[in-house]
Amino acid sequence: MKFVRFTTDDNKLPRYGIFTDEGIKALLRGPFEDSIDEDNGVYSETLVRLLPPCTPTKIVAVGLNYRDHARELGMELPDEPLIFLKPPSSVIGPEDTIKLPPMSNQVDYEAELAVVMGRRCKDVGPEEAVHYILGYTCLNDVTARDLQKKDVQFTRSKSFDTFCPLGPWIVTELDPCNLRIRSRLNGETRQDSNTNQLIYNPYELVSFISTIMTLEPGDVIATGTPVGVGKMSPGDEIVVSIENIGDLKNNVA
Ligand code: MG
Repeated sequence: MKFVRFTTDDNKLPRYGIFTDEGIKALLRGPFEDSIDEDNGVYSETLVRLLPPCTPTKIVAVGLNYRDHARELGMELPDEPLIFLKPPSSVIGPEDTIKLPPMSNQVDYEAELAVVMGRRCKDVGPEEAVHYILGYTCLNDVTARDLQKKDVQFTRSKSFDTFCPLGPWIVTELDPCNLRIRSRLNGETRQDSNTNQLIYNPYELVSFISTIMTLEPGDVIATGTPVGVGKMSPGDEIVVSIENIGDLKNNVA
């Protein structure tokens, strides 16, 4: 199933829906409830505006989590996940514009598989984690690289408004451990890897993070980026593509 959040011209109130071949079926309640009743509204894809597919209370991101990326940097594999937070205010949806802040001279794209939590969890093991995950979507962990190098903390470099494009939808019932993941800048492939290169897989990440903080429904885990990150400039189009999920496209200004 593909869950979306959307508005229409005549109804600006964000609603959840299911993306189907016949159109977007509106839901009375979100995908985080026990039942997901449809409200009988079906909307053509061309007539809706897709929003970020969930509203996280936090985005927990993981640094250096791809073997190919670590190899490229000549770094040893980390003995536990390196995590940091991105604020909910950085989230934008598909087709929204990434705004480059004047404070930075190098803002990079980072294509990432995002885990969307379905149920509240704390202290769950890797083998139980699947029961707390709603599904997966695409995420661009936009990063002001120069500020990341300058600051000891990642907070400033990862947190500007528009620095967390998310979407276009949450795909459920997906094996996250063998998916091709790519980024394309102005149509040119820049990253092309597979989630089988992840050092810590989504289940291990949910388990590890849940030993530190409670994960709420709709919270997002950004699982790290593969080799090939690079700079974006005004006027660019950046697309994050993940096999069996779809394309997350944003423009840069
Ligand atoms: Mg990242």
